[in-house]
Amino acid sequence: MGDVYTGRFAPSPSGPLHAGSLVAALASWLDARAWDRSGTGRWLVRIEDLDTQRCVGGAAATILRQLQSLGLLPDETPMFQSQRSSLYRGALQRLVVTGRVYPCSCSRKDIEAARARLGLPRQRHAELVYPGTCRSGLHGKAALAWRFRTIAQGYGPGDRDDPPVQWSDRRLGPQQQQVSSAVGDFVVQRADGPFAYQLAVVVDDAAQHVSHVVRGEDLTDNTARQI
Ligand code: GLU
Repeated sequence: MGDVYTGRFAPSPSGPLHAGSLVAALASWLDARAWDRSGTGRWLVRIEDLDTQRCVGGAAATILRQLQSLGLLPDETPMFQSQRSSLYRGALQRLVVTGRVYPCSCSRKDIEAARARLGLPRQRHAELVYPGTCRSGLHGKAALAWRFRTIAQGYGPGDRDDPPVQWSDRRLGPQQQQVSSAVGDFVVQRADGPFAYQLAVVVDDAAQHVSHVVRGEDLTDNTARQI
């Protein structure tokens, strides 16, 4: 670990902070402050208000007030994802140019049907592992989303060119996930919707020079995609 620490708390304004989100706020704040003896620990707040359907009016202001009343004060003005679309557009454009994303025309029904044809098990509630239908092109259909290519063009899941993503979690220990089989090529933007959390969080953590992420364990499953 280097000696500059930048942590962040990144709530979605779907309501006031509750016990769980307060734990994430306090834990990330404490971790940054624990670094602070040398004066190099920074703690930032980012409001993840991209998915307007899940945002509740006034919730962002309530969250910021709650943090303030608890003395959890960010070292910079809070960032709002809703003001950063041009940066996400630029990042998506770079992924398009480098061939890391491709357009996809599949609806949930299409994905279920393709999985059934391939003899893959039905997944009722979980996010469907994308079977790669549009990896080789749209074949004249209209694009509904951009998907991130989890394995290099021309390779299949499990090929030698498809190693798992590995990282170290200070509480859970060494972690790994093979994104191509656990998640599949995932959506970074829907045609009719906002940029996906998976894209925005990476753009913003990089822009804010975040060095350490302390967040709820329920988000562990996202880390490999974000790496
Ligand atoms: N906005 C996400 C949430 O509230 C958390 C994002 C993160 O910490 O990476 O679930």
